[in-house]
Amino acid sequence: MPEPQLKIPVTCPHCASESLAELPIALIANALLIGKAIRLYSRCHDHYWTATFAEREQLRKSLAALEIQPCAQLGPPHAEHLRAAR
Ligand SMILES: [Zn+2]
Repeated sequence: MPEPQLKIPVTCPHCASESLAELPIALIANALLIGKAIRLYSRCHDHYWTATFAEREQLRKSLAALEIQPCAQLGPPHAEHLRAAR
């Protein structure tokens, strides 16, 4: 069964080019919770490295944004969307 993946922008430490890395959501959440190192990967240089503090913060925000989405769709603000649609 495929695990849900999170697409995150990463910057290659060698050439500073940005690319999208995909990591399993469960792996990121677990590593953030227990303070474990997260391995990032850049395709351009076929290079693996350990996420820095700033990169971990970025991952934390991406995860938080994921959890907010379903609530935002069901929450009170959607009454305004309904009104606007009529
Ligand atoms: Zn590179």
